[in-house]
Amino acid sequence: MAKLKVLLASSEVVPFAKTGGLADVAGSLPLALEKLGVDVRVIMPKYSSVKVKGNSTTIGKNIKVYFVENEDYFHRQHLYGDKFGDYRDNLERFSFFSREILERCKKENFAPDIMHCNDWQTALVPVYLNTLYKFDTFFKDTKTLFTIHNLAYQGLFDKAEFPKTGLDCALFHIHYFEFYGKVNLMKAGIVYSDAISTVSPTYAKEILTKEFGCGLEGVLKTREKVLYGILNGIDYDVWNPATDKQLFKNYTADDLEDKYTNKEMLQKDLGLKIDRDVPMIGVISRLADQKGFDLLGKIIGEVLNLKVQFILLGTGDQKYHVLFEKMAAAHLKTTSINLKFDAVLAQRIYASSDIFLMPSRYEPCGLSQMICFKYGTVPVVRAVGGLKDSVIEYDPKSKDGNGFIFEEYNAHYFFAEIKKALNLYRNRLPWSDLEKKIMALDFSWDASAKAYEELYRRITPTPPTRWGQVN
Ligand code: ADP
Repeated sequence: MAKLKVLLASSEVVPFAKTGGLADVAGSLPLALEKLGVDVRVIMPKYSSVKVKGNSTTIGKNIKVYFVENEDYFHRQHLYGDKFGDYRDNLERFSFFSREILERCKKENFAPDIMHCNDWQTALVPVYLNTLYKFDTFFKDTKTLFTIHNLAYQGLFDKAEFPKTGLDCALFHIHYFEFYGKVNLMKAGIVYSDAISTVSPTYAKEILTKEFGCGLEGVLKTREKVLYGILNGIDYDVWNPATDKQLFKNYTADDLEDKYTNKEMLQKDLGLKIDRDVPMIGVISRLADQKGFDLLGKIIGEVLNLKVQFILLGTGDQKYHVLFEKMAAAHLKTTSINLKFDAVLAQRIYASSDIFLMPSRYEPCGLSQMICFKYGTVPVVRAVGGLKDSVIEYDPKSKDGNGFIFEEYNAHYFFAEIKKALNLYRNRLPWSDLEKKIMALDFSWDASAKAYEELYRRITPTPPTRWGQVN
């Protein structure tokens, strides 16, 4: 079989820039694809966080990462906006990025079979390929896959800004870009791509409904035949308690005592009481409505009454900063509230916590629950999206299951699952069996990368045989 050529275009890629799960995916999927023999390359903007000289580098064995440079657009402290809101020139910035993706392909003489675009920031690429570059023979065999990592972030702009895309104004039309009087980049990406995927099978179904479709369920329905759901994986070279350099002490399922050494060291670092027996509950998340913090806010007082320690790491909406700051002030001795982005602290919290909370309203895939498994930390989650595809309720009788999961978005049910987890925790033997069991689960990229490769092959045209016939 001919080697597939794929360009993965993303506005954030680990280890160069990250605000969320998209960066993890864009950084680790290519590594797994390379192992499968795919000629995959990556392209992203050169933000000030990219500490690389020049406009390219390599990751993995030999994966080229191309950086798009523009001081004005990308040399900023943040990726998409600051505390005052989104950057006002985001449409300009990402139209520029999308055009440059195509121009860079030509400069590098790399005509991909698949242009794999991700979220609204690169949604213009399939549009450009079908309009401005329609007759450009360089891209004559290029097909597009558009992956939705989170349908709620659509890239919405005022209609007066449409000319900044460089496209014919006729495209500001209900069939393409127009969405309730606004420019919607995500919508255009969905309309113009050869195939669409999202990051879990359940989310792929959910986004066709009014409840989860964010107004785009109708458009998605028209593309249902080419809509796929592939669960993300995680990179065990990064997320592995046996080798993680950020931990106080590395550990495996055979020496779980060392997980508790991490717990004690973190308690010391964060000024909490040092006690390896007290249940430690962790949360690491963007502080956004999506993540279910209103549910947590309703019950956190009661949870803290259950003699636990609570550690939170996150940044986001001001209202949640206020909520958690108040909580920290009221429960100084048992909580550690860290309102920042801190990759090192995150790794230590995954390792040190016993229980991890994800009461999401919706969750396209969710990576934290998979990271938790690997670190022997038991997740309590809501049954939505990728959480539903990866967490199975633990049954104390049969010992089946890998965590705790509740259906309805309701604080009472959430609290009930936390209590179940705490009860099991206080029962040491089954708890450590569960810890060991979840550490052995496999959520690596291997299976998911194969699914992507299959999908890429499905959308690339069958090459003509020597006789000029199509098989
Ligand atoms: P989303 O992409 O919706 O934010 P995911 O669960 O898919 O959620 O991925 C979130 C990723 O970002 C995880 O790797 C998580 O550990 C990380 N993360 C979130 N908030 C922080 C933070 N404040 N500091 C460090 N890492 C964080």
